[in-house]
Amino acid sequence: TTEITGDQKVNGLVYKDRASGELKKVELEGVFIQIGLVPNTDWLKGVVELTKHGEIVVDARGQTSVPGVFAAGDVTTVPFKQIIIAAGDGAKAALGAFDHLIRTSAPA
Ligand SMILES: Cc1cc2nc3c(=O)[nH]c(=O)nc-3n(C[C@H](O)[C@H](O)[C@H](O)COP(=O)(O)OP(=O)(O)OC[C@H]3O[C@@H](n4cnc5c(N)ncnc54)[C@H](O)[C@@H]3O)c2cc1C
Repeated sequence: TTEITGDQKVNGLVYKDRASGELKKVELEGVFIQIGLVPNTDWLKGVVELTKHGEIVVDARGQTSVPGVFAAGDVTTVPFKQIIIAAGDGAKAALGAFDHLIRTSAPA
């Protein structure tokens, strides 16, 4: 979406066709704006593996590409971004970290 059009009220929306790059307009009487889909992970580029969408790649235990570094919630590759899933994912990653620590020797 590149633009929501209208003067006193919404009358349409302009979007860019991903395949052709062409701008197209759809006439509408209203819009519903969905926010919060872009992970805030720029600072992790080159630190842990990210998907092309910027999500942190984790395994079934919340382990990232760096051994001993765990991640959980919406920012990861976990499917379905919902509160109850993120909360459970946090518990899972914490247990994953615990399991990692008890199997790792303490530094000398
Ligand atoms: C508009 C909207 C409506 C939603 N409605 C629902 C709903 O009805 N039901 C439902 O189940 N889910 C809903 N969700 C999804 C739900 O909010 C998320 O699934 C959930 O909040 C994810 O929790 P999280 O802890 O993974 O991430 P977040 O809740 O996003 O928490 C991440 C935290 O990390 C902080 N942070 C980010 N970067 C840094 C940094 N560099 N250093 C330190 N802190 C940082 C952020 O400020 C934030 O507080 C909605 C989401 C949105 C955006």
